[in-house]
Amino acid sequence: MDKQKLLDELKVKMKSDISLPLRDSATNLVFGDGSPDTEILFIGEGPGHWEDVKGIPFVGNAGALLNQLLSKIGMQRAEIYITNVIHYRAPENRDPENSEIEAFRGYLDEIIRIINPKIIVTLGRFSMAKFLPGVFISSVHGREKIIDWEGKRIMVVPMYHPAAALRSSEIKLKLTNDFEKLPQLLSTIKEKGDKIQTEKAQDKKAEQMHLI
Ligand code: URA
Repeated sequence: MDKQKLLDELKVKMKSDISLPLRDSATNLVFGDGSPDTEILFIGEGPGHWEDVKGIPFVGNAGALLNQLLSKIGMQRAEIYITNVIHYRAPENRDPENSEIEAFRGYLDEIIRIINPKIIVTLGRFSMAKFLPGVFISSVHGREKIIDWEGKRIMVVPMYHPAAALRSSEIKLKLTNDFEKLPQLLSTIKEKGDKIQTEKAQDKKAEQMHLI
């Protein structure tokens, strides 16, 4: 199965989807970037000015910080795949609305299915909320969680958005520390593979043991 081909086909489909919101005010569709054969998928919020101009995610200041953080842990941008919860720029970079996130959801889900990552790193609260609803980023950042996604176990690592780190040195430090955990998390998940249980399965087991 050629993942790049599947992504290219999905991109063509998305480009011709006139039902998508923000299409008319945006310059380009910002689909995704990186290696489709990666084990780590990063999901950000939505395109900003430079992403809109170039049609590539994370190419502005937040992207430069992301590249730095990756290279600090010995990873190249080309080794990972990165996309967003919305794929057209929202005017003035405002927060995405729920209806917009919902409109793009099917496409993002398809990107996740094609990439089939072992780890999803969420950047910021909008992508975090997709997998970990109702939590605060300040309490859970850098703490991995194994979730059940369409019957598959995926490790989700919520992190602050690099743009937030550019505004606060305290957040930058937290983001840097969280990034430093990634190589270890990746080797753990590669080693344990299917033996890693979801929270649900762990809870069930604990419940059963309690009953004995
Ligand atoms: N911020 C995001 O969330 N996504 C981008 O692509 C760029 C900046």
